[in-house]
Amino acid sequence: MLRASTHHAGTPGNGAQLAAMQLAGMHRAMRDTFGPQAASGPLAEAGRRAAAELLRTIPLPEQARRRRLPRAVSTRMLLAALRRWAPRFAAADRRFTASGGAKPVLIIAANPLCDERPRGTRVCAWHEALFETLFQALVSPDARVREVTCLALGDPECRFEVTFDAD
Ligand SMILES: [Zn+2]
Repeated sequence: MLRASTHHAGTPGNGAQLAAMQLAGMHRAMRDTFGPQAASGPLAEAGRRAAAELLRTIPLPEQARRRRLPRAVSTRMLLAALRRWAPRFAAADRRFTASGGAKPVLIIAANPLCDERPRGTRVCAWHEALFETLFQALVSPDARVREVTCLALGDPECRFEVTFDAD
């Protein structure tokens, strides 16, 4: 037992990959059991809780300081953090790309938490909620995140656009 855990501890990324695999199975089971529409509410709540876990690494005064920065600056800081956190929500950092600007765009290629099979609807409510919670806490409370293309719709990637109500 000790030997096994020592062996795995020496292989970076194994824990994150296992967690992502378990997460993917949970997402598909939720959609298979309840249907993609009914599953989206609980999956979004799970995404908000996952964001809260990530936010615990950033003290509240620092979160408030970032919200007061120019939006382009705080967005750039969040995108850098998202690239570091990518193994937690995209299984591997190379799957995740992001761009800033007035309307930031987040892309997950071959999204492991999505569905390869057509579902006839966008299904990535967990990612929408995760990204939206992080943008609201670290950039601006009026941030909104919407998935605009999705593997489950036959699109090549899951793409999320960030907008701000005040714009
Ligand atoms: Zn998707």
